[in-house]
Amino acid sequence: MENIRVIERKIEFNGLIIKARWFYASAILVLGLYTKFFSYSSVNFPLVTMAILYLFYIAINFIFYLYLQYIKKDKSAINLEILSWWQVGSELIALTLIMHYTGGAESIIHFFYFFSIVSAALIFGLRGSLSTSILSSLLVNGLVLAEYYKIIPHAGRFNVPTVDYLVLSVGLAKSITISTAFIIVAILSGYGINMLFRREELLGEQTQKLNAETEKRLHELKQLDRTAKLLVKRDSELNRTIKALEKEKEKSEDEKYKTLAIISNFSDPIIVLDNENKLAIYNHASKEILGVKFSDIGKKVLDGNDFSLDKFKTIISADFNYAKSVEENNNNLGIEEMDLKIQNEARYYKVITSEVRGDDDEYLGVMKIFYDLTREKTIDKMKSEFITVAAHQLRTPLAAIKWSIDLVIKENKGKIDAEQIDLLKKGYKSNERMIKLVDDLLNVSRIEEGRFGYNFNNYKFADILEIAVENLEATIKKKKIKLIIEKNQELPRVYIDKDKIGMVMQNLLDNAVKYTPLGGKIELTFKTAGDRFYVSIKDSGIGIPPKDQEKLFSKFFRSDKVLRMETEGTGLGLFIAKNIIIKHGGSISFSSEEGKGSEFIFDISLSK
Ligand code: ADP
Repeated sequence: MENIRVIERKIEFNGLIIKARWFYASAILVLGLYTKFFSYSSVNFPLVTMAILYLFYIAINFIFYLYLQYIKKDKSAINLEILSWWQVGSELIALTLIMHYTGGAESIIHFFYFFSIVSAALIFGLRGSLSTSILSSLLVNGLVLAEYYKIIPHAGRFNVPTVDYLVLSVGLAKSITISTAFIIVAILSGYGINMLFRREELLGEQTQKLNAETEKRLHELKQLDRTAKLLVKRDSELNRTIKALEKEKEKSEDEKYKTLAIISNFSDPIIVLDNENKLAIYNHASKEILGVKFSDIGKKVLDGNDFSLDKFKTIISADFNYAKSVEENNNNLGIEEMDLKIQNEARYYKVITSEVRGDDDEYLGVMKIFYDLTREKTIDKMKSEFITVAAHQLRTPLAAIKWSIDLVIKENKGKIDAEQIDLLKKGYKSNERMIKLVDDLLNVSRIEEGRFGYNFNNYKFADILEIAVENLEATIKKKKIKLIIEKNQELPRVYIDKDKIGMVMQNLLDNAVKYTPLGGKIELTFKTAGDRFYVSIKDSGIGIPPKDQEKLFSKFFRSDKVLRMETEGTGLGLFIAKNIIIKHGGSISFSSEEGKGSEFIFDISLSK
């Protein structure tokens, strides 16, 4: 399969030959006419034959022209080959005919064979030009021989035959010379053309390679372009992200500054540790009040996860006392109370320790906030002091009244009637209530001032129980309450302050009797577990409404329900009891159902 380049070249040369033929066919005609009419020339070449030959030749050339147009579209190599051979072949035939009519050996038309040979060289290269020259030689020499030996009739060029025709050796000498020239021209032109073909081929290959290379480069360029575009896109995306991040950072830094500003302007101390327990943030108040130093920033404050105040002594240089608060809060690591002296003035703080967590709940550290309670404490203290003074002032006259009434009732100061005795007894009872209230108030202020002295020792719990029950016996009988005291075990000795635990037992039993209606039931049960002794006082009384259960151990709290019943009470009994039990290292709890009864349980130590 010839490649497209060769086909295109052949089409071009065929076109060139067709174009040239218009010209030299006409030139041959003109030449023929000239020799016929203006020179001393052939009379034997009839004008009609000349015209027919010319027209035929032109017609054939026209067919070639059409054929070539078809091939130009078709690009068929076979058609092209046919056309090429026919171009050369028909020309040889035409030339041989012209040569015959213009005198055979006498003719000078031979020179036109060069056109065919060169044409063949242009189309087919050396192979074509050589075969055409050989064919031409055969035709030229064959014609000379055929005419000489009369195989073909001789059409004389002149009126008389020339030596060219009459002497074979002369005729042949001319035709053989021409043939030799044919072959030389064929070789030269064919070889030259072949060389050009090769060059063309080489050029073609190089062009192809170059094209391929260019294509590759173009492809690479395109890819590069795409990559570049992608990079530009990424770059702008990245820029956007960076800008957004910067904004976010600015915002968060803004927030941070705001937070820091709030913290540093906060009038109470704040200390923040990071997740490695190193000092991260503290405020001005921390410096002024607690003596935290700037040089401690980044210092490891403590190991482990005990964040109680004494661990902070590594960074707090101020001298302070602290205690764990009884308050509890699930969200915090703990609440402590702290007091210290600033310029000889006492300051009180409630210290809340809580975890610091980020947006994703990641642990960031721990924060200690110190709430200044000095004012509240001072007011509280003043209140307590007032109560103490008032209670003290009341206690002596109340004792005097008790003594006086008692004296009158016992009729030591003359006879009085039954009605008077009854009135005096009522007065005595009221006075007793007043004394109890004053005692409770004094106990509360002692508790709050830390003056509620304890005297621990080993005592039989049975003695304490006996006294408490004895004091209530009359009321129990009056209210027809069934008192059940568990007798399964012998009650142990306990390590307590006898008076204080007596107070607790008295209070709880008192409540059980007070808040249990006529004909009710009170059960006392006991349990020993390890070093602890558990006491349970269960009644079938009015119970405690759920809404009141939380406030039960607060100072002065009395449920609405009992207030309506107008039973006696101060609302201080359970507050005092809880404080006493805590000082004994125990705890007090209760469970209650409204209308069904309540159970109070506390525990104390068996040994020291
Ligand atoms: P009070 O002097 O009022 O008894 P307490 O501190 O002893 O003061 O008790 C506080 C409140 O708790 C009582 O007023 C009462 O409302 C409730 N309470 C205590 N014990 C009982 C109980 N056994 N049954 C029902 N309510 C009780």
